[in-house]
Amino acid sequence: MEHLKVSEAQQIIIDAVATMGVESVVLAQSLGRVLGEDICANRDQPPYDVSAMDGYALRSADVVNAPVTLEVIEDIKAGDMPSKTVQAGQCARIMTGAPLPQGADAVLRVEDTQVVSDGRVQINCSVKLGNDIRYRGESMRDGEVVLTAGTEIVPGVVGMLAMVKAANIKVYRQPRVAILSTGDELEGLHDAFDANKIPDANSYALMAQVQALGIQPVLLGIARDDPDELRRHLQTGLQYDVLLVSGGTSVGVHDYVRPTLEALGVQMKFWRVEMKPGHPMAFGSTDKTFVFGLPGNPVSSMVCFEQFVVPALRRMMGCSRLHRRTVVARLTHDVKHKKSRTEFVRVTLSSEEGGYAATSTGSQGSAILPSMAKADGLMVVPSASQGLAAGEHVLVQLLDGTAFQDSADFKE
Ligand code: AMP
Ligand code: MG
Repeated sequence: MEHLKVSEAQQIIIDAVATMGVESVVLAQSLGRVLGEDICANRDQPPYDVSAMDGYALRSADVVNAPVTLEVIEDIKAGDMPSKTVQAGQCARIMTGAPLPQGADAVLRVEDTQVVSDGRVQINCSVKLGNDIRYRGESMRDGEVVLTAGTEIVPGVVGMLAMVKAANIKVYRQPRVAILSTGDELEGLHDAFDANKIPDANSYALMAQVQALGIQPVLLGIARDDPDELRRHLQTGLQYDVLLVSGGTSVGVHDYVRPTLEALGVQMKFWRVEMKPGHPMAFGSTDKTFVFGLPGNPVSSMVCFEQFVVPALRRMMGCSRLHRRTVVARLTHDVKHKKSRTEFVRVTLSSEEGGYAATSTGSQGSAILPSMAKADGLMVVPSASQGLAAGEHVLVQLLDGTAFQDSADFKE
């Protein structure tokens, strides 16, 4: 099999996977899910013209020559229905969200008025017709599609769903994801300490990456580099919608993952991608399971997850945005690169006038997990690059946990 570019490998994966079916969830459990149906408004919102302020509903023509004094004929709270019509020289005291009475065509906020006596108010300024009125149906119209299938359910969407009384909603089913680590050298998190072993970091780093997408994966543990044991574990993994296997996909004599997968009926779609870290990356499928053979080195496995598993899982979850957000940043130092593979450099991002500055998190070896743990993003060095110089603008793919920063930054 030929070596693919990252984008070619991504395309093969995106074309192979499909969105899952739908299921019903209650609104309180819907955050982070993806709408599997269009949602329509079930009334005009607001249902009638309402006041946007605490103040007085009046006839704008009456106050052209303000200050003037008007008779207060009624007190309308939110939830009341007005019972009187405002005639010339009259007004009604009105609260935010209360229906506008007949006859009134504007609202003046209470701060611009003065109570003169019981039943009379002085209006200190003139108002334009329509001032501080929210018109019927101005935020949504009865029957209008207000949210479409494929919308990710963020807090604002939850608010909208509540506004249209969608107590139960159809969302895309989430793929069931299994994670398997492989290697004789690995020590499980709860195994006895042995200074000569390598702790299994990948199961948990991958678990967290999957969780960060809103899916709870299943850890299948560690399979030793033994074809029979590996086969048993892989068979279990092939019961899931997605199987992530780390290690054992390279060219070592004990790298049994690919041949064992093939023996179990997995059709391998590609192996090896022109990227660094993450070269020995494999992808295949059966009629029910998509299998990602991720490199054993912890950083490689995480970087491959970002490039290949993120778009796959997001497509299966019904999202229309499949890829990580990228931002442009100013590089704070030189970066060496020999024309070869696309490279992903772990960087921190800091805000600066006009954007971001990107700085390497340190040693970029594919097993150096501390430099991944510190990273805000992955800076992309194109394969053809001969190296980058300080001050150049680069593209950085954001990682999870980057939505917050030290200070608010904005000027007021
Ligand atoms: P492999 O792809 O199996 O040749 O593994 C490449 C490197 O990654 C080796 O140094 C392994 O010890 C290491 N490695 C493999 N799996 C894991 C894991 N689950 N956690 C931490 N390191 C691993
Ligand atoms: Mg191995």
